[in-house]
Amino acid sequence: MNDDGALAIGVDLGATKIATALVARDGRVVAARTTATQAGDGAAAVCDRIASEIFALIKQSPAKVIGIGVGSPGAIDRERGIVRGAVNLGWYEVPLGDELRRRVVHRAPANSTASARCHPEVLRGISQASCVRDPSEYLGMTVAAAHVAGEDDGDLPVIIDTDANANAVGEGMFGSAVGCDSYVLFTIGSGLGAGVVSGGRLVTGGSEGIAANLGHYALDPEHGRACACGHHGCAETIVSGPALAASTGAASADSVVAEARNGDTAARTAIRAMARALGHVAAVAAAVVDPQVIVIGGGLGAAAFDLLVPPAQTEMYRRLPTSFTGRIAFRRAGLSSPAIGAASLIFSRLDPRQARAGARLVSPSSGAGNTGDTSVAPGGATDSLSPNISADERP
Ligand SMILES: [Zn+2]
Repeated sequence: MNDDGALAIGVDLGATKIATALVARDGRVVAARTTATQAGDGAAAVCDRIASEIFALIKQSPAKVIGIGVGSPGAIDRERGIVRGAVNLGWYEVPLGDELRRRVVHRAPANSTASARCHPEVLRGISQASCVRDPSEYLGMTVAAAHVAGEDDGDLPVIIDTDANANAVGEGMFGSAVGCDSYVLFTIGSGLGAGVVSGGRLVTGGSEGIAANLGHYALDPEHGRACACGHHGCAETIVSGPALAASTGAASADSVVAEARNGDTAARTAIRAMARALGHVAAVAAAVVDPQVIVIGGGLGAAAFDLLVPPAQTEMYRRLPTSFTGRIAFRRAGLSSPAIGAASLIFSRLDPRQARAGARLVSPSSGAGNTGDTSVAPGGATDSLSPNISADERP
């Protein structure tokens, strides 16, 4: 099967902006777009906007588009493609998969040079998924939980997952966790997202499919700040941009980071406190999956990476069993856009072996992306838009 020319569209749906990209099998971004979400206009208008961005990419695609992956904030019913609740968008029970299917799949330009027909391998992989007995052939939820917009020939699969899960898959395929069998991604921005991969499979849970939602693991349920989810003291109320800004009274998290770099004591103290909370949550994940790598992403995670990691690492090991000997590396997220992570939801179904990045492991100390396993290599790096693999982030 030669799908090297096939492209997938990734959609990162955020509270303030929608980032979309046409992504190649090797993770290269062929084209990218960004538009304002304007969530206040309502879900239907936002779905129109997403569809319009997707159309624009399909029209300019130089090759076949094989599917659309969407990373969404909030709680997702991944099997049915429903956004069950996204506080920042004001969305509750929005059937995003069906809405996009209605707008995109049935109206895709029939004579476009970029065929909007589904790649049969994608559909085959997904239709097999529901009956496959050993889901380990697929990266985690790819099996039972894939939301397929339509399985008729001529349809494009539309796959919805949380933004954190999408980026976790993407980091394993193209980013800082290439070659890793078990890893954890934290995205620190307007909230705290987490995605966990264990044994080459995305951890998605059993009872409700909402595993790894560590941002709402309560660190201080008695005295912590109120969280948008209704609880108090969730990790996100400490580890996030708004939380960092609130803890110092600063206008923004960026200004706290800048002040910390200028040596401001209060700012440095606030970042250390946030880092310790991050370390606490990292210990929860690490105790379960014994990851090779903890990947730190998100706007604040990237901006404050060097400030956060040493205290987070210390705190994590303080809480882990002593059998952990210090081999877990912290790395900066490697994807240049979250839309790449969203597109990887499609690629992970196309070639599950590629998604199971950890089949042949690379030692964390030898750096991500240096694996000799060509099946998981980020490939190409043929232009400046290729994912930026950073392997030098160990503290
Ligand atoms: Zn919460």
